[in-house]
Amino acid sequence: MAKYPHELTQLIAFLKKLPGVGTKTAERFAFQLLSWQDHDLSHFAHFLQGLKEKIMHCTECHCLTDAGKCSFCHSPSRDTSKLCIIASAREAYSIDETGAYRGLYHVLGGLLSPIEGKTPEHLRLDLLKARIERLQIQEIIIALDSTLEGDTTSLFIKEEMLSLGLPVFRLAFGIPLGSSLDFVDGGTLARALTGKQHF
Ligand SMILES: [Zn+2]
Repeated sequence: MAKYPHELTQLIAFLKKLPGVGTKTAERFAFQLLSWQDHDLSHFAHFLQGLKEKIMHCTECHCLTDAGKCSFCHSPSRDTSKLCIIASAREAYSIDETGAYRGLYHVLGGLLSPIEGKTPEHLRLDLLKARIERLQIQEIIIALDSTLEGDTTSLFIKEEMLSLGLPVFRLAFGIPLGSSLDFVDGGTLARALTGKQHF
């Protein structure tokens, strides 16, 4: 079997890190990139290089922003009595797209996982609690994956929130067990939000 030049093999390896990209697709992408004009490639490379500096985390909720507070925290039309707890910033966009939720968000930045060494300290609950108090949140909605890690984290947070005397809901209805919110379509997510259950 013929071998690709080293750099091309490396490019393919990078592309395979993307979700859903296998060897064949990565090869197709790599050859496509090779066919790009020089100025397009360097524009792309330059853009990637500054990506993490241009896209930041909201100082308030840790969603994504290009400056200071994110569009969720900034908007005057949000229901500031509700807080939806999510694992990563991406979920805020999926949930918002359903139009079924208009409250605020809080990004945990991960889930509890003993295997990966993710302990409760990683969830920055002190920040969450301080925010709940400051914003005078009245209702908590937990929107974490329906997986072992998601369930464990949800239970843990529920206990912490109940100790603050707040009602806690979890998206449950319509989300198949063991599924990541990543793979749940908008309609299912909207039904899950309107059918949220006391937890
Ligand atoms: Zn924010």
